Amino acid sequence: MDAHGLVRKTFADMRKLGYIARMAFSCCRNCASYELVGVVKEKQALGAVFYSTQSKDDMRNCGDVYVCFGSYSGEDNADISVGYDLTRVALENGLQVEWNGTSIEAVRLVSPNKEIERE
Ligand SMILES: [Zn+2]
Repeated sequence: MDAHGLVRKTFADMRKLGYIARMAFSCCRNCASYELVGVVKEKQALGAVFYSTQSKDDMRNCGDVYVCFGSYSGEDNADISVGYDLTRVALENGLQVEWNGTSIEAVRLVSPNKEIERE
């Protein structure tokens, strides 16, 4: 399976856990966040993970993609637990993950064929 397939599988698994998971959703992070708050409340989902069409090319061209996330409550601890679920599921699917464990930073999913560069 190529990296894009692994990301798709990761998003499908997040849906099974009760999250709203959208790939290449909306035009940019701001619009996507705004739209998803409504969907999460309506479906009473645990939270949402997504990346916007701005990031869509990243996985295909660069081998990585930055995934934003948020919780139903919007509280910091709840947001962070969504990030941990995403990290765990992505690792289970064979992706590499780079994330600093805060709700401010998006979770970077990296193709298993790409080395993570460290600054
Ligand atoms: Zn936008």
